[in-house]
Amino acid sequence: MKVLLIIIDGLADRPIPALGNKTPLEKAETSNMDRLASLGMSGLLHPVDIGIRPGSDVGHLSIFGYDPEVYYQGRGVFEAAGVGFKLTDKDVAFRGNFATVDKNWLIINRRAGRIEDTQELVKAVDGIKMNGVKFLVKKGSGHRVAVVVRGKNLSHKLSDSDPHKENEKVLAVKPLENKLSCRKTAKVVNAFIKQSHQILVKHPLNLERENKGLLPANMLLLRGASIKARLPSFYSRYGLKSAAIAGGLMYQGLARLLGMKVLRVKGATGKEDTDIHAKIKAATDALKIFDFVYLHIKAADSLAEDGDFLAKKAFIERIDKEIAPLLELSDTLIVITADHTTSSLLKRHTADPVPIVIFGKGIGTDEVTTFNERSVIYGKLGYIQGRHLMPILLDQIGKLPIFGA
Ligand code: ZN
Repeated sequence: MKVLLIIIDGLADRPIPALGNKTPLEKAETSNMDRLASLGMSGLLHPVDIGIRPGSDVGHLSIFGYDPEVYYQGRGVFEAAGVGFKLTDKDVAFRGNFATVDKNWLIINRRAGRIEDTQELVKAVDGIKMNGVKFLVKKGSGHRVAVVVRGKNLSHKLSDSDPHKENEKVLAVKPLENKLSCRKTAKVVNAFIKQSHQILVKHPLNLERENKGLLPANMLLLRGASIKARLPSFYSRYGLKSAAIAGGLMYQGLARLLGMKVLRVKGATGKEDTDIHAKIKAATDALKIFDFVYLHIKAADSLAEDGDFLAKKAFIERIDKEIAPLLELSDTLIVITADHTTSSLLKRHTADPVPIVIFGKGIGTDEVTTFNERSVIYGKLGYIQGRHLMPILLDQIGKLPIFGA
């Protein structure tokens, strides 16, 4: 038996008055997911624990069976691994944006007008060395970058330079611990921010942008300083050869750090326009080679964060149509769940549990015949936490060791 784990980011929601107090998932026409629920076993899953409002990174780690309290050291490393950095245990990684600031470092635009063609700018600030520390920069999607700080005795206990708001000044990166290594890292990161700004201000591409009336990308805003926690590989934990399919770079990075093989799929964008059909096809193909395939679909979350519950409902319906071929797989457990709830009304993640269904040959069934936040309460799985999922799946595929004799 193989496993296909589909994580639909932010799939669950809260009841919406305009939808007759139903959620987008309840309101959506999802005959295929309902069929999985009818033939499989369902329940509710707290991605991390009761009363924890997970970020996507933490929700995922927990579902893969990695206790975030032990293994989570900030988001920057996942972004950095996502753009292709090979991180050492000593690297400190930030995620960042190209932004536009004025002479006094007041932020005019946090995304430099959503600049896309940043390759030349990245090249200009990549590889800067100061005080025995090297700064490596790689392009992320759109205006985003990942910055890796490489050197001896560095600390990731650092505040952000990004105030997360416009019309505010760029912040000095502050040490969050009173240690020499921490103070030293903060100092050198601030020096890098200054030097990269001086390079960017004078860069021909930015001068050209200003001439065209476009916003110059003259500042790197950094956030999410982190280190790579010692993550045991997915294979060493479970003995399963695993692959990942995700459009978003952070999800690719997280999978890569767990030792999953990241498969590129043309048209997988991590956005609403993503090619779900191609992703499902790629996942089905990958199951011929790998024991465990993780498939991530992002836009349900982003649409809810934009408050667009109708688009979220329509996106869920698109997913449902595309999963039809999975019902024919004879030797695979199909699991559908989410990494957290995203409320379309609040436009943010919430701590509510998310529905989960497990379907496959020989799986025990229950009375649940539709797949949504309300119906699965009566399912056989009951309430579980993220950390319970992998043992449940291992048991279903006959790979869970016995406890006792
Ligand atoms: Zn998420």
